[in-house]
Amino acid sequence: MSKNLVVVESPTKAKTISKILGQDYTVVSSMGHIIDLPQKELGVDVENKFKPEYVVIPSRKKLMTQLKKDAKGKDRIYVATDPDREGEAIGWQIKEKIFKGKDVLRVSFHEITPHAVGEAFKSARQFDANMIEAQIGRRVLDRIVGYFLSPLLWKKLARGLSAGRVQSVALRLIVERERQIQAFCPSEYWEISAELSKPKISGETDFCAKLEKIDGKKAEIKTREAAQEIVDELKDKEFKVLEIRQTEKKRYAPAPFITSTMQQEAFNKLRFNASKTMLVAQQLYEGVDIGGDNPLSLITYMRTDSPNIAPEAISEVREHIGRIFGKDFLPASPNVFKAKKSAQQAHEAIRPSYISRSPESMKDFLTHDQLRLYELIYNRFLASQMKPAEFLATAVDIAAEKYLFTANGSHLLFEGFLAAYNKSEEEGKNGEEEEKDKNKNIIPPLTQGETLALNKLVPSQHFTKPPARFSDSSLVKALEEEGIGRPSTYAPIIYTLILRDYVRRIKGYLNPTELGFKVNDMLVEYFPKIIDVKFTALMEDELDEIEEGRLKRVEVLKEFYAPFKERLDFAQANIKKEVVFTDQICEKCGKPFIVKWGKRGKFLSCSGFPACKNSRSITSGVKCPIENCGGELVERRSKRGFFYGCSNFPKCTFTSRTLPESKE
Ligand SMILES: [Zn+2]
Ligand SMILES: [Zn+2]
Repeated sequence: MSKNLVVVESPTKAKTISKILGQDYTVVSSMGHIIDLPQKELGVDVENKFKPEYVVIPSRKKLMTQLKKDAKGKDRIYVATDPDREGEAIGWQIKEKIFKGKDVLRVSFHEITPHAVGEAFKSARQFDANMIEAQIGRRVLDRIVGYFLSPLLWKKLARGLSAGRVQSVALRLIVERERQIQAFCPSEYWEISAELSKPKISGETDFCAKLEKIDGKKAEIKTREAAQEIVDELKDKEFKVLEIRQTEKKRYAPAPFITSTMQQEAFNKLRFNASKTMLVAQQLYEGVDIGGDNPLSLITYMRTDSPNIAPEAISEVREHIGRIFGKDFLPASPNVFKAKKSAQQAHEAIRPSYISRSPESMKDFLTHDQLRLYELIYNRFLASQMKPAEFLATAVDIAAEKYLFTANGSHLLFEGFLAAYNKSEEEGKNGEEEEKDKNKNIIPPLTQGETLALNKLVPSQHFTKPPARFSDSSLVKALEEEGIGRPSTYAPIIYTLILRDYVRRIKGYLNPTELGFKVNDMLVEYFPKIIDVKFTALMEDELDEIEEGRLKRVEVLKEFYAPFKERLDFAQANIKKEVVFTDQICEKCGKPFIVKWGKRGKFLSCSGFPACKNSRSITSGVKCPIENCGGELVERRSKRGFFYGCSNFPKCTFTSRTLPESKE
């Protein structure tokens, strides 16, 4: 029988660690949290220093008994849950609830390799009280907000709605963006480009120059007629090279992934949403079967905001780059990346655990999604320790009397890190297309004063574009920039907003629903500070400070609760049910229908309620695809989120996440 018991939070991770530790250790799983705040009560003693009243999660009771049994006769108990606040808290619960009074030590590691696990066991420690305090602080804060705000939403809009602290701020960003889009008025403008070449060699060597200035002023062309006038005037002008500017530019290697950048790139390159990225990354971290019942963890821990790299990993990757790409690609000293001020210095970036395990060599053992994410993480890490790419940027000013054209071109001199990883352009930014065209524009060798042949003038119509809707990628970026959310919360924030049907993901972009607008507007009206971006960022910082031991949990909660309670009392006294009248008339009593949100979604109810109980569902106008059904698809909401159901329910049970026609 083994002498030691090791508890982790997941069965796969238990298996992977067990292989490493060998027969002296029994590794078991706690299946996540074992205690939590109660489901139906506040569970926080506000009067008594916001003391949380934890209860054992009912489904974990059996497991607790089993864990107690497992611990019998063991010399030592170790808790090896994930290396962050959540992991520390789960571990501490295990110690307090199951092994009270026993000597329980905490081990934490950022990768599940023999070396890292061995080192962690050598430096097993006591639990980090500050980290646990910070986790309790967040849990209590979120509980207070959720518990008190939800009934207000019920009173104002519909039963069953709920609001969370950080999600509500994210919703606000999404709603505000949507309003900017709605208010946007596109304006027309025209561009004129000239296809030019050295005389007598038109065709292949044509390059493109854009009209920039007229009479020394920025060219602003508003209409087709104005553009045509300029084109007519330019037709027989002489195009002369005025000035050639050449600069060497460097593009530096990107930092290795942290959670936020991994989620952004996985969306931009693989179209993975944030939750999917985290799920697949967790699989790669906890261990994949590489044959012979041999689980192997392939990447470091996926929740991190630190770009640090362990020194051993740096020397390994440098050796690998030198061998695969050649010494030219290796910088004289390792690339170093700066962490944000809030980042945990002890943490590491997300990188492959074994540089020798190339994605190619792993492809038989990984699912398609696992392989694609592993490839991204692997190549990004390689690139992060390579030399910058070098370009020669050429800008040529070309004059045709009062008209000034500029041709931009870029020529790759040295591939550098691009040999391993090509960072995708950030999506959602308008006007980026030109940037890409620049690389395709090949400018032949020119001399100052040289006359060029004009082969073609191309006027093109454009419209100014509204700001882009948020995607998982750009929302995570915005949340990070605003200081809201942390590596463990980006994905759950988006997931929760979609689950509550406040936001729908359509073709990868986040669209607020009518319900989302209403929930947001009510929160903005009554709780402007609670869902203020800066205030929320401050609260996140303060939670970090609890973790660093610089602030007390109770102080942070007090500071939050007093103004919150004030707004809450005001809202409770003043909030009124919102009534939305429609132009549809009840056929039974002649009163107009009003819009209501019920447990199962939006519907029309007679305004004569309760005297008249007539109601109608709101249909999408799309026929139910079930043959001979004749029903129409209506919007529904359930605990698992938004869907379309048949108006003939319960006779017809057709459901779909999307309307059959839409190609989402
Ligand atoms: Zn009626
Ligand atoms: Zn049907």
